[in-house]
Amino acid sequence: MLKKGTRCTICKSKNLKDKAVVFLPHHRLALCKEHFINWFENRVEKTIKEFKMFSKEDKILVAVSGGKDSLSLWNALIKLGYQADGLYIDLGIGEYSKDSKEISLSFGERIRRKLHIVTLEKEIGTIPQINSSANKPACSACGSVKRYYMNKKAKELGYSTIVTGHNLDDEVAVLFGNTLSWDIDYLKRQYPVLKEENGFIKKVKPLCKTTEKESALYAVFSNIEYIEYECPFSQGASSIRYKEIWSQIEQQSPGSKLRFYLGFLKKVYPLLNQENQDTKAIKQCILCKEPSFNDICGICKLKQKLHKAPAKL
Ligand code: SF4
Ligand code: ZN
Ligand code: ZN
Repeated sequence: MLKKGTRCTICKSKNLKDKAVVFLPHHRLALCKEHFINWFENRVEKTIKEFKMFSKEDKILVAVSGGKDSLSLWNALIKLGYQADGLYIDLGIGEYSKDSKEISLSFGERIRRKLHIVTLEKEIGTIPQINSSANKPACSACGSVKRYYMNKKAKELGYSTIVTGHNLDDEVAVLFGNTLSWDIDYLKRQYPVLKEENGFIKKVKPLCKTTEKESALYAVFSNIEYIEYECPFSQGASSIRYKEIWSQIEQQSPGSKLRFYLGFLKKVYPLLNQENQDTKAIKQCILCKEPSFNDICGICKLKQKLHKAPAKL
């Protein structure tokens, strides 16, 4: 909690009198608006360098959803001097997609960067259609479809890297879920950088060390308008329950999330990825030529299924 009248830690060190508006307990920092913005951008820059994510010469593509994380990240990358364009995937989820698309488009205009749009309705079918016709849970289909089109479009458009806005809370929730079920295949791939290989483009997460609250504050202080309500399919998702559990842990013991996540990256991830481990062979889908574990990839199979049983809208 920020006590009334607390001075900004940085301003104080420079003999300035600005009052703090944010307190970051796990960093023991009280900051004014200006120094919080600098702190956030420095943290993003340091994470990019620490994990060798990309350089200022690379053409990178930010996966934009219209939410606080992706828009804050895109804004910070542009301010830091990176060549970052955006990719918005229109999932066709009623008002939610309509509002988030409008917000993303107007933000692209504000920062004068290109926003590419993929419309699922034209490519394969909307998420509600997939949900009802293909009998697949919305979020699991949505995750696979988004990953597929991000990879495909980034390659077609000539970008070297896909940048996503996953924050520390997202990473901790996923790590926690995968640990509860000891899902080794997923744990093996939970790293802030996935290198380019076997038809997959490089994928990185520069917000992996910043929290959801920090990106929301950065968005507010930077006057970024973002979609404030959740996707209707997110209700009841296990990741939301895990986030609630972790916010209680964090409240009682500030810094726990970061320790849990960084401890995994340092101590467990290397053990899971020792060289002599079996990895499933990756082939090329015979229909779309995208990487796949089988002759026909999951998305082409889904397309066939949707084609056979057209959705009732
Ligand atoms: Fe997709 Fe589920 Fe997220 Fe909605 S909540 S955007 S359906 S993954
Ligand atoms: Zn200050
Ligand atoms: Zn395919």
